[in-house]
Amino acid sequence: MHNVKVDPEIKLDFQDVLIRPRRSKLKSRAEVDLFCEYNFKNSKKTVKCIPLVASNMDTIGTFEMAAALSKQGLMTAVHKYYSVEEWKSFAQAYPEALNSVTISSGTSDEDIKRLSSILQEVPGISGITLDIANGYQDSFPDTISRVRDDFPNHTIVAGNVVTGEVVEDLIRAGADIVKVGLGPGSVCITRIKTGVGYPQLSVVLECSEVAHELGGHLMADGGCTCPGDIAKAIGGGADFVMMGGMLAGHDQSGGELRTKEDGTKVKTFYGMSSETAMSKHVGQVASYRTAEGKSVEVPYRGDVNETLQDILGGLRSTCTYTGAPLRKFSFFLHYSSKYYQDCKEDPN
Ligand code: 5GP
Repeated sequence: MHNVKVDPEIKLDFQDVLIRPRRSKLKSRAEVDLFCEYNFKNSKKTVKCIPLVASNMDTIGTFEMAAALSKQGLMTAVHKYYSVEEWKSFAQAYPEALNSVTISSGTSDEDIKRLSSILQEVPGISGITLDIANGYQDSFPDTISRVRDDFPNHTIVAGNVVTGEVVEDLIRAGADIVKVGLGPGSVCITRIKTGVGYPQLSVVLECSEVAHELGGHLMADGGCTCPGDIAKAIGGGADFVMMGGMLAGHDQSGGELRTKEDGTKVKTFYGMSSETAMSKHVGQVASYRTAEGKSVEVPYRGDVNETLQDILGGLRSTCTYTGAPLRKFSFFLHYSSKYYQDCKEDPN
């Protein structure tokens, strides 16, 4: 019989905790600087930015999003469906945005060929996001090493994984930043379809320790529904936080805009392994797999810059409550999820 073990340790999600306030000398949110500086282990690059990243979903990591976010100092993992020609036009129109973007790729030979040809034409793109749904594939470290050899000076983000031993493998293979998250995404249904997953705050707490010991960095990907969740991810040790749903529904997001019968406007937002995405990019859902993402309609929210103000305002406020710069608050007060949910749902 195989050996079954139940891990008795409590694992945490964002809604299980709150950040404890501390004495603060900061008088106003205006005094808070959200820019952070990073020195990357393998690319040897230094980057100063606000460490929030638009997800490489085709409705989120668009060129329009990258242009808007780069102006505010945020990053974008541009999705992998743009052609060489489209990248060239983007680079010509927004040369200054190239410092704030990574180009996404899968790991098939065809993916890597496409990645190489775009980086050859647009060498100013600052980083590469190697993204596969299951970062536990045996061959993933080898692919990272290959890309590292071909592009020694590009910052490599690689994921997704959720446990320390594989974080170590990916950093040793050449990744600068390991992207973590399995199942927390707002349009992800992996936990329902497969039973596989790991509570995201614990992923961040556990994996950031391993990454930092090795001189690497960590990106928390998925599950942030509000600025407070982002603050908790950063407080828990994430160097970067990737957002999907929080940036959906804007002018700069992809997805179809529709006016409903009652006059309200909505935009489509879907997971990258939803039927919608697979029909769009692959033609259909392959018969051996099931969709692990869903398609939803979110309220249309106009210009993303207003949402950014809200998010950045929240983070500045976290810093004033905790008397700490971004990345330096890490004191959690543990409530039961039930209590927290009740607070959230209380209309008053
Ligand atoms: P959100 O910020 O919306 O909670 O999470 C965004 C993240 O969800 C993405 O960056 C990506 O890692 C993940 N994701 C996007 N689409 C899918 C999908 O179809 N299935 C799964 N399992 N995860 C997805």
